[in-house]
Amino acid sequence: ALDVSVQAAILNLLADLQSKEDVSYIFISHDLAVVRYLSDKIAVLYLGRIMELGPSEDVFSGPHHPYTEALLSAVPKLDQTDTARIRLDGEIPSATNPPSGCVFHTRCPRKIGPICEQQEPPLGEAQPGHSIRCHIPYSELARLQRAVVTEPA
Ligand code: SF4
Repeated sequence: ALDVSVQAAILNLLADLQSKEDVSYIFISHDLAVVRYLSDKIAVLYLGRIMELGPSEDVFSGPHHPYTEALLSAVPKLDQTDTARIRLDGEIPSATNPPSGCVFHTRCPRKIGPICEQQEPPLGEAQPGHSIRCHIPYSELARLQRAVVTEPA
């Protein structure tokens, strides 16, 4: 909630302290630009579950968990690779009474069927150091997300 210049000063101070003092931070934010600037490693959480975990560049370059995909689609872009914003329908369920199976299934645009409602997917390693919690295989997520990016406007 800081204004932009104060925010930049604080972020630079944090980055300086991190390199000078050799410390780590856990930084919690919805501001993806700030997350990207400051983070070496990112965990994307939904209802308290880690949905995706990996090095910052891998999480931003994808393939993404469907929730990460929706979050990234909301970031304004200036270049021609802009993709349509993915709007998540419905209310956020209560974290104290989460949905069965995959906790994201009530709002997931890529839900594949009853397995999503019945079985919680494991946090599977998509590539070394980069994990995604989804029943859709990593290679299929990659294919689906490539298809969105290359679709004609
Ligand atoms: S497991 Fe199913 S509901 Fe959960 S993110 Fe993957 S496709 Fe969506």
